[in-house]
Amino acid sequence: MPPTPSSSKAKRPLPSPTSNGHRRQHMEVRKKLPVYQFRKEICELVYQNEVVLVVAETGSGKSTQIPQFIYENGKLKNFHKNISSANRKLRLAHTICVTQPRRVAAITVAKRVAEEMGCETGTLVGHRVRFDDSTDIQGRNTSRIIYATDGMLLREATADPLLTRYQCIVLDESHERSLQTDILFGVVKRAMKARTRSKYIDEKNSCSVSEEFEKDKLIQMRMRKKAKELELVPLHVIVMSATLEVETFQSYFPQSKYIKIPGRQFPVQTLFTPDYQEDYIDSALSTALQIHKYEEEGDILIFLPGSEEIENLAGLLRKYLSEESELGRSISSDEKSGEHEIKKRDMVQSIKGMGTDLHSGHGSIVNGVLVCVLYAALPPEQQIFAFQSKPQGCSRKIILSTNIAETSVTLDGIRFVIDSGKCKERDYNSATGMESLTVADVSKAQARQRSGRAGRVSAGMTFRLYPEIAFDTLDETTAPEISRVNLAQVVLQLKGMGIHDPRSFDFLTTPSQQAMLKAFKQLYALEALDDTMELTTYGKEMAKLPLDPTFAHLLLQSPKYECTAEMLTAISMLSAENIFYRPGGSGDSEDSSGLSAKAAAAHKRFTSYEGDIPTMLTVYNCWRKEAIYISSAKGGKKERKRRRMQMEEASRKNSKSSKILHGDWCTRNFISGRALARAHDVRQQLSEICSRETSRNGLGFDVNVSCGDDIVKLLKGASAGLFLQAASRVSNSVEINKSIRKDMQKGITNTGRGRYKTKIGGAEVNLHPTCSLFGRNPPPKCVVYTELLVTKRTYIRGATQIKEEWLAEVAPKFFR
Ligand code: ADP
Ligand code: MG
Repeated sequence: MPPTPSSSKAKRPLPSPTSNGHRRQHMEVRKKLPVYQFRKEICELVYQNEVVLVVAETGSGKSTQIPQFIYENGKLKNFHKNISSANRKLRLAHTICVTQPRRVAAITVAKRVAEEMGCETGTLVGHRVRFDDSTDIQGRNTSRIIYATDGMLLREATADPLLTRYQCIVLDESHERSLQTDILFGVVKRAMKARTRSKYIDEKNSCSVSEEFEKDKLIQMRMRKKAKELELVPLHVIVMSATLEVETFQSYFPQSKYIKIPGRQFPVQTLFTPDYQEDYIDSALSTALQIHKYEEEGDILIFLPGSEEIENLAGLLRKYLSEESELGRSISSDEKSGEHEIKKRDMVQSIKGMGTDLHSGHGSIVNGVLVCVLYAALPPEQQIFAFQSKPQGCSRKIILSTNIAETSVTLDGIRFVIDSGKCKERDYNSATGMESLTVADVSKAQARQRSGRAGRVSAGMTFRLYPEIAFDTLDETTAPEISRVNLAQVVLQLKGMGIHDPRSFDFLTTPSQQAMLKAFKQLYALEALDDTMELTTYGKEMAKLPLDPTFAHLLLQSPKYECTAEMLTAISMLSAENIFYRPGGSGDSEDSSGLSAKAAAAHKRFTSYEGDIPTMLTVYNCWRKEAIYISSAKGGKKERKRRRMQMEEASRKNSKSSKILHGDWCTRNFISGRALARAHDVRQQLSEICSRETSRNGLGFDVNVSCGDDIVKLLKGASAGLFLQAASRVSNSVEINKSIRKDMQKGITNTGRGRYKTKIGGAEVNLHPTCSLFGRNPPPKCVVYTELLVTKRTYIRGATQIKEEWLAEVAPKFFR
């Protein structure tokens, strides 16, 4: 659907209060970036070619500068004179979209660019990530540079395959080959082919493959015709990366031009450990402390696989750093013979006015060191600590990050890199149909990229926590995600975009036939596809939801079991990661103040006997009942101020009742306020899609239908939604006894942990320690789960108790 003209005339972008001074300052910095020297050349290349590949080191200014060059470039403005006045009014083909594989990057880069351009986010520059769209606050289609996650642009392409709004699409971080980026390549190429003025030469389509694919050719022809009618100018594509396998992209875009921008990189000395490390957290801890003690100044960046490991190590670092300081003080106070009393409070200094989260200690200086964390699920407000320059009284920054800091975002001042050599990787076994999130070894390319982060400001050092011989065994590059995931979502997405046969889709790397077949089977089992493999009405409904097919099915099944309100909550809560705040991670690690015991006690009141879905509902419902919260997901500073006043007013009114403020409620209950707020926001957006009329691309159902206290209805709803992810307890008592005995030897007295076998695939799995069913004695006989996690063992998460016999009732075609 092409965009329609806005009724109100586009206003000038709102300047931010201190814009001019800042802009000038920023300009000085911008001029020094490596890409700046090449701006004319880049613009010329983009203007003359439909596809340009840009390779430049991380931090050269690709993401922040190149879109600005294109926007400011005169030639592309002239180019627009060719557009008919009608279309200019429609504001077709006038926006630049920059895609990012990660939300974090889309948000921070958009914010930075808005600052550089002297405007507020949401005016000229905005970001668009799932459940958070800051664009077009001044009227329809008024943002001209949009930083979006690739998933968001894909959703847009579903409704508008010609990408009519865009003049230029920048595919950033292309080397990552995330699932959504890979699909986006095909989608963008399709739009490009329909909008091009020159005849498109494509080897793949020139030889007719089969009759079935004819349908897709017809669709392509129709798109071309429509592009002509709309007088769309050709779509320009820029593919950007720090490390690109140029040949792959050149053969995919045969007409592309390639430019490599020389970067600034100082030498980095690489050190390996002499032996394999048993515990990389421990090893990273001692390495960081040693660097801090013996090496000269410079910040430390530690790469770890995931948020849990990061929070764990951050806690340990803060603890050791504060102990070290205490030791130092006690010696000096001994010398001064009791002159001062040591105040432990002094050592953990909070940075004022930064919205410091007391719980997690984000942004606190311990003994002169700022320990900050960075991972995708971390709310943007807390990510800023990693990017900000060091506050007063801080001599060193230690940043703990996932692979986000490899290329997606630029951190200044790093001189030491500690590389665990691990990352989280989605993996899919198409034979068993099991998808998992595993901790895997990085590739050589990734390891080099990580090392490079130490040489941006001056010569640096990298400490790899594995021996040199281990490096030689690493893969050269990481395999594209599309070859490692369950393709059900991909097939559904492509089908939703009107692609008749997803096998005919022009993939950058074609996934295996087996994986494709498995996806068809899963969608068939969920009744999203019919016998002829056409999308059913139900499948079309699924494609409308910004959820993966499993969650979409769970939600769509809910009206039948009268638990729509509950499932909306459960899905929102389960998709917002880490609702429960567990100090010191989820493991058994001790913390000095006994916080983890307090947290466990606070969480107990929410824990439901039946498992995670009802537990999540209890948390959400208690919060709604006991806390005062006013959403602040959108809006500028003024709006936020208005909301804060509203909240204070509400708090005053409520002073007689027992309601407390959101922040206080979360602190008291050891719940992540940000995650909860996000879940609430997600819920509102899902509700909106569900309740919107079908004629307006909604689902048209009543979102207030609730099962009340009828837990059976809820659990049956869960069984119906998650029947493909059911597991039953392993009843082999010998096996259980063995494991219990082992646990007892280790001093673990909890005998209630269950071992399960998945109904489909027959894999052996364990309840994850974060499950509310973990430790229940006896464990339930049968469960459904929402996630499979493979670390040292295979775990299931989001587990909820069901009755085995319900499966045949809720999915009779499947379980006869
Ligand atoms: P690339 O995409 O090539 O890796 P970026 O365009 O992201 O590089 O960053 C270019 C430069 O802009 C960085 O070197 C950094 O100095 C600065 N920069 C980028 N983002 C931010 C930010 N959020 N805060 C401060 N400086 C930033
Ligand atoms: Mg970048």
